[in-house]
Amino acid sequence: MAFDFISAQLAERKSQHLYRQTTAVQCQGRLIQYQQASLLNFSGNDYLSLAQAPELVTAWQQGLAQYGCGSGASALVTGYSDAHYALEQTIKEWLNVPAVALFNSGYSANQAVLKLLLGKQDLLIQDKLNHASLIEAGQYVAANMVRFRHNDMSHLEQRLSQGGENKLVISEGVFSMDGDQAPLAEIVRLTRQYQAWLMVDDAHGIGVLGPHGQGSLAQQGIHPQDCHIHMATFGKALGVAGAMVAGTVDLVDYITNFSKPYIYTTAMPPAQAVAIKASIELLQQQPWRQQKLLQNIATFKQAAQQEGIEIAPSETAIQPVIIGGNNATLALAQRLREQGFYCTAIRPPTVPPGSARLRVTLCSAHTTADIHALVTALAQGLAGNADAGMTNREFSNEQ
Ligand SMILES: *Cc1c(COP(=O)(O)O)cnc(C)c1O
Repeated sequence: MAFDFISAQLAERKSQHLYRQTTAVQCQGRLIQYQQASLLNFSGNDYLSLAQAPELVTAWQQGLAQYGCGSGASALVTGYSDAHYALEQTIKEWLNVPAVALFNSGYSANQAVLKLLLGKQDLLIQDKLNHASLIEAGQYVAANMVRFRHNDMSHLEQRLSQGGENKLVISEGVFSMDGDQAPLAEIVRLTRQYQAWLMVDDAHGIGVLGPHGQGSLAQQGIHPQDCHIHMATFGKALGVAGAMVAGTVDLVDYITNFSKPYIYTTAMPPAQAVAIKASIELLQQQPWRQQKLLQNIATFKQAAQQEGIEIAPSETAIQPVIIGGNNATLALAQRLREQGFYCTAIRPPTVPPGSARLRVTLCSAHTTADIHALVTALAQGLAGNADAGMTNREFSNEQ
């Protein structure tokens, strides 16, 4: 029968404990309402707890009152308003970049850039742990895509020495499932040496790291000119939605003229652009958000170490606790939910087989007591898993 694979693959997912479903929750930053219970939320990407900030809600409402709901057209028709223009100006000043293009999502921004720039004579080089939106786009473009071992600079150099007319290296600033950071200065040195371009996807660094929340590049002292394509999203630390691609005036001109995902889509609602601009201003006016988050990260790491919980080498808001097996991870997530903590289990194919994990994330609204309570429950849960005969690290060879 036609499209038989649909039910077959769903059944396979279920049998492997890899089946997924959306769950309706009500997220209020620090807390999440889940099946009539109010749980502490350690799963979101709203790192600065801006999504619920009253100032931001008001800004979006004022934008709605001024501009109405939708933008009404694509950017090149009539969808681009003075709200979009003002947001672009704010970003250019904030990040010290010459030009910026707005997108409705980070997913589409990544697809757009790769499709736009890479032809079959080109070489695309990606960190092995790059986000699905980048890897998937790379699989669809005609360029030769190769990956280098995560953060392995000698492997990157080996890849760079391969042939290709235009070479593009892509790394995340902060890796979304591991929380560790790319050695950007070293990557810049190599891309320069091999005359390649560098693209950094800073979805999890923007707002969180660096002075004024400018992100991974600023934190690591990288000059904006050394990162040819700076991509960031507005749906995580900035608490809204949408994305940007920053670069030279020529690059943004080229996007505006030739990128189909940019041209043939309705521009983001102007009120949303107002809200994003307000968010960028707010996070700079309220540096305590970033400071509190960094404090919370340190508190979590210290408490976990004291409890003997093995955590990943991450200095960011993403603090994964790697369990290994899918079942063991699901059981632990369930046990934590029963005790009032919401931590999502992340399983393959989002992460490599055998490295299922609880992706613990911290936000600036967590209190020290929240974090200590989570760590205590985690330690008990991990001990419980061991009692139930579940190995915490049943690595497979499939990596
Ligand atoms: C979330 C994410 C994206 C996608 O951004 P959206 O705006 O949510 O579509 C892209 N890259 C990375 C690294 C991400 O974590």
